[in-house]
Amino acid sequence: MSAAIEALPPLREVIARHDLAARKALGQNFLLDLNLTRKIARAAMPWTGATVIEIGPGPGGLTRALLLEGAPAVVAVERDERCLAALTDLVAAADGTLRLHPGDALETDFATLAPPPWQVVANLPYNIATPLILGWIARAECFSRITVLVQKEVAERLAAPPGGKDYGRLAVAAQWRCSVRLLFDIGPKAFVPPPKVTSTLVELAPRPAPLAEADPKKLERVTAAAFGQRRKMLRAALKGLWPDADAKLAAAGIDPTRRAETLSIPEFCSLARLL
Ligand code: SAM
Repeated sequence: MSAAIEALPPLREVIARHDLAARKALGQNFLLDLNLTRKIARAAMPWTGATVIEIGPGPGGLTRALLLEGAPAVVAVERDERCLAALTDLVAAADGTLRLHPGDALETDFATLAPPPWQVVANLPYNIATPLILGWIARAECFSRITVLVQKEVAERLAAPPGGKDYGRLAVAAQWRCSVRLLFDIGPKAFVPPPKVTSTLVELAPRPAPLAEADPKKLERVTAAAFGQRRKMLRAALKGLWPDADAKLAAAGIDPTRRAETLSIPEFCSLARLL
């Protein structure tokens, strides 16, 4: 299989042949350097035995790398029909290891693609990266690992510890269910066309159990209220949730003069349990 993939025409030729001019609305910034896509694939390893799901294979640079690095079974979800047509030669070369799923990743229930667990590896379309990741985190128990290239800012917000400006709803949601690691940055010049921002490969590894007990919807309500007014003291920021916010904060053992960004995830969970 590797020889057949290596014998495929270069990605630039695939792009020219299929007239794959990048569409901004689809977040299309392609990676054409196979050394780099192989580095991403290796960073996602070891293969966990789960079905590997790639969102947005585009012309197939990362898809080729996943296959060459030995991903056991790959399902690639793509909504651009031009890309799907461009990938048929790769499907043939992959000899049963690669399946394409035409459609919108935001609307796709992965259970219709393969039974869980799933291992996601992708260079995500940046305009939908956050909703995709939030949807996956909500079902973290179904994923063995998620390794995705996102805008550096989003990666930093996912991994942020308490105490800084990046720590917010996204950090709490992600780190409550997963341990989050920033792997490496990729500059704009590596992409065709180059985006305006730097990208970061980030890994979300689902925890065996959430960091602390809480109902996810209640946790989200608490973080939305707390970070919605992040400069205010919690006693003021949480007034919309509880007119007696001081008493609830005291019950959770939290000083009401603290601000949202100083709270640990277990402390947010304590508040969610009081809702
Ligand atoms: N994986 C390729 C690479 O690394 O060169 C392309 C990555 S490009 C940043 C994002 C890809 O996601 C594009 O191929 C685009 O067509 C696809 N895409 C955009 N929105 C999508 C959606 N809602 N569902 C599935 N694929 C989508």
